[in-house]
Amino acid sequence: MSARAGIVVTGTEVLTGRVADRNGPWLAERLRELGVDQAHTIVVGDRPAEVREALGWLAQAGVDVIITSGGLGPTEDDLTAAVVAEFQGRPMALDEPLEGRIWTILEGLRARWPDLDEEAIRRSNRKQAMVPEGATVLEPVGTAPGLVVPPADGAVGPTVVVLPGPPRELRPMWSTAVETDAFRAATTGATTYRQHMLRMFGIPESEIAETLVRARDAGIDLDALEITTCLRRGEVEVVTRYEPPQQATYDAFEAIVRDRHAGTLFSDDGTSVDEQVAGLLRSSGLTIATAESCTGGLLAGRLTDLAGSSDYVRGGLVVYSDAAKVALAGVDPELIARVGAVSVEVAEALADGAIAALDADVGVGITGIAGPGGGTPDKPVGTVCFSVALRGGGEDGGGPARLTRRVVLPGGRFDVRDRSTTVAMHLVRRLLRGERDGGPGSGSEDRAET
Ligand code: ATP
Ligand code: MG
Repeated sequence: MSARAGIVVTGTEVLTGRVADRNGPWLAERLRELGVDQAHTIVVGDRPAEVREALGWLAQAGVDVIITSGGLGPTEDDLTAAVVAEFQGRPMALDEPLEGRIWTILEGLRARWPDLDEEAIRRSNRKQAMVPEGATVLEPVGTAPGLVVPPADGAVGPTVVVLPGPPRELRPMWSTAVETDAFRAATTGATTYRQHMLRMFGIPESEIAETLVRARDAGIDLDALEITTCLRRGEVEVVTRYEPPQQATYDAFEAIVRDRHAGTLFSDDGTSVDEQVAGLLRSSGLTIATAESCTGGLLAGRLTDLAGSSDYVRGGLVVYSDAAKVALAGVDPELIARVGAVSVEVAEALADGAIAALDADVGVGITGIAGPGGGTPDKPVGTVCFSVALRGGGEDGGGPARLTRRVVLPGGRFDVRDRSTTVAMHLVRRLLRGERDGGPGSGSEDRAET
C-alpha cells in the first residue's frame, strides 16, 4: 500500500508563465521525502470553476491527499478556501479567535500604512478568518491561515491541504501541515523511498540510454527502479528512486553506470560542480579570478554564489571589447591582431591576466562568440575558448598547470553563455583535482552537444 498525492497550483500569473511555479516542484520533493507518491500537478488560474475541476479530477484519480497553493489572500479573487469547503461538503464559518489573531498581524502592518481604510481591512480580516467546519487551521505566516480539510464525516475522498501562494509563506506552513493528525491520517500508506543522483559531464544523453539497455541485458530488473535521466546545463543527471528492498538491484545498476562512465561521472552524492569547486578552493586555500568576454561576468557570478566576502573569489574582469582585454587583463594587442580575440591563445592570456590583475592563485579566461551574427566559417557562433591556469604554472609540479579548450556550443546567446560557465566550472574542477588533460570537452568531444 502507498499514499498518493496531487498538487493544485492556483494563480493566473503562474498559468500564464509570468511567475514561474516554485511551489509545485518544491512540494513534490517534500512529498517524496515523506514517501508519498506524487502523481499529478495541475496548474489553474484564479477561477473557482477550474479549481473545482482540478480537485474533482484528482479525487476521481484516487489520490489520498491534495495540496493547493495560492488564492488565500484578502481580495475577491482569492477563493481557494471557499471552493475547497464546498468541495468537501463543509460549510464555512467565522473562526473568531482566528479573526483576532489575524487582526493583531494586520495592526502591525497598519502602523506602517496609517492611511488605510479601517473598514476595508476589517472586511478582509473577516474573509481570511472564514474556515470550513472541522478543518485544522494552520497559523498564518503572512496574513492568510492555511487549512487541512478532510472529507465530510462519513464521506470518502482525499484530504485537502490548503496553503498560501507566496513561497516564503508556503514553506514554513508545510512543516506545520505535515504534523497535523488530519494529514497523518490521510497519508498512513506512505512508504520509504531512497533516491540517488549520478551526474555526468561531457556525454550525450543517448549514451545513458545505451547504458540502460546494457543493464537490462545484464539481467538487472530496471522495472523495480524508477530511473529518470535528464540533460541540464550540459550535464546528464540520472536520478533513481526505489524502495529499500530494491537496494541490491540499485547497487548493481550503479556499478554498471560507474563502469561505463568512469571518465565523466563527477558526482555521486547529489553535489553540483559549483559545490565541488567551492569545496576544492576552500580546502586548498587557493583564490580564483576570471577575465570573461562573451560570458560578461556570469562565471564570476556563479563562483560567488557559494562564497563569502573574504572567501576564495577574488573577482572578475569583464573584458568584452579588445580594448578592455588589453587595458584590464593586460593582453598583448599584437597577439589579438595576430590570432584574433576568439582564440585559445587569447583565452590563455586572459587567464594569466586575471591572476596578475587580481592577485589570484587560479585564473580563468573565456573568449567566444555567443552570437548572433558574430560568426565566421572557421569560428561559427557558439565557438568559445577557455583557459584555466594556476599561478606560476603550479609550484608543486603535480598535475597540469593549465587546461585550455576550444568548443562549439549549440543554441542561442543564452544557451551559449550558460553552457560556457558550466564548461569553465568543469575545467576548474579538473585542474584543482590535478587531472590530466583529456576527458570531458577535449579532443574529439570538443563539439559538445546540448
Ligand atoms: P496573498 O494574496 O495573501 O499574498 P495568496 O495565497 O492569495 O496570498 P497568491 O495571491 O496566489 O497567494 O500569490 C501571491 C504571490 O505569491 C503571487 O503574486 C506570486 O508572486 C507568488 N506566488 C504565488 N504562487 C506561486 C507559485 N506557485 N510559485 C511562485 N510564486 C508564487
Ligand atoms: Mg491571489
